[in-house]
Amino acid sequence: MPMPDTPQQFASDNYAGACPEALDAMARASAAGSAAAYGDDAWTRLAADAICTLFETQAAVFFVLTGTAANALALATLCPPYCSVIASDIAHIETSERGAPEFFSGGSKTLTPPCPDGKLTPDAIRLCRRKASGAHASEPAVVSITQPTENGLLYTLEEIRALAEICKECGLKLHMDGARFACAIAALGCTPAAMTWEAGVDALSFGGTKNGMAVGDAVVFFDRSLARGFAERTKQAGQLASKMRFITAPWLSMIQSGAWLRNAEHANACAHRFAKAVETIPNVQLAWPVQSNAVFLLMPEQAMNSLRAKGWRFHVFFGAAARFLFAWDAQTDALDALAADIQACVASLPASFP
Ligand SMILES: *Cc1c(COP(=O)(O)O)cnc(C)c1O
Repeated sequence: MPMPDTPQQFASDNYAGACPEALDAMARASAAGSAAAYGDDAWTRLAADAICTLFETQAAVFFVLTGTAANALALATLCPPYCSVIASDIAHIETSERGAPEFFSGGSKTLTPPCPDGKLTPDAIRLCRRKASGAHASEPAVVSITQPTENGLLYTLEEIRALAEICKECGLKLHMDGARFACAIAALGCTPAAMTWEAGVDALSFGGTKNGMAVGDAVVFFDRSLARGFAERTKQAGQLASKMRFITAPWLSMIQSGAWLRNAEHANACAHRFAKAVETIPNVQLAWPVQSNAVFLLMPEQAMNSLRAKGWRFHVFFGAAARFLFAWDAQTDALDALAADIQACVASLPASFP
């Protein structure tokens, strides 16, 4: 039975289907017939090699099913159970993973200094270290930053280098949650190496799902010695896909075809188009500048309600901001229609507003 037609929604970038490059690769990997299981296959080797080539370094590369698993298992590998991870107070690992990093590390804490605009700063790290020192405290072992951040902002390369510098000074490992890593690369126009190991990042959760794949995120350790135990944790956590080729054949294809970057460029461009269409509407405000594929809007609550009544789905984050996210498949017609509906909803508010 065909599913009912619903207009395209922008509530999240994982509402999107899988892009042709990813889907075709799955079909081809299936048509190849029998292949070794649990990642002992050619696609998995080639996908790991392709990621190393992309990053211009011999990294240790792993594939898991979700971004939560990528973050939690990477952090558990980097952080002893009696230590802590410093992250921003709006970090996905803090707000949206049901304590998975703490659970898989077996006792670590997440320390979340308040961060202006969702970005960690060297001062915030210093403050955390001061507060969590001494034999009884969960001493920080890792810093985790999200690039782009949960509210759609970017750390500049200088900012990443400055964070890495203080990490190095204090013996902390630096992890990057790159659920939307491709969007950050597309926006900054730098190399993947420049945004990660060259800047001092030790490990990366590299998002595939939100970039246009059906399933599967990668974990990249730039210092291979830091990956010790990661493979074992992956199996223990139920994150070792037995038909691994259906994750890694799409990864290989996405990188070889350039779709990983094209998808992100499209997503970012759609966010900018949408922001341009709504930013001049009276009583509508961008909560943050648009720097990646996310647009956060402040608007009257009644306007949000009538937008929902028109059938649009979206989440309200950080107490007040309606979030719209654009994926590889975002259609300009649909996002223009959304912008027009926002305009109509705000225009129909009672004249006494605010
Ligand atoms: C989506 C997302 C993840 C991963 O989420 P999963 O739903 O587990 O795949 C991790 N970090 C950030 C910032 C995200 O937006």
